[in-house]
Amino acid sequence: MDLEPLISRMKIGSAGETGSWRNYRPVVNKELCNKCKTCFSYCPEGVISEDIEIDYRFCKGCGICKEICRQKAIEMVPE
Ligand code: SF4
Ligand code: SF4
Repeated sequence: MDLEPLISRMKIGSAGETGSWRNYRPVVNKELCNKCKTCFSYCPEGVISEDIEIDYRFCKGCGICKEICRQKAIEMVPE
């Protein structure tokens, strides 16, 4: 019996692309950011690059990056 059609595969959600359910997105103020990379290290989704660019396709809007930024360079903006 072929089980493949019975197995659901995550496409949108916690393990995949975020889709449209995120309420807030983090926006980096480049003037305040000193590229310390703390947010890069702490993002649970690993979606912040070493150049501090955020991949919004996978960002879940958890706000951890904002909370740990000592420069207060990240603002959570309503979608
Ligand atoms: S934690 Fe803040 S200051 Fe450090 S790289 Fe991230 S946005 Fe920039
Ligand atoms: S809001 Fe959360 S998932 Fe999105 S970049 Fe910040 S720490 Fe990563």
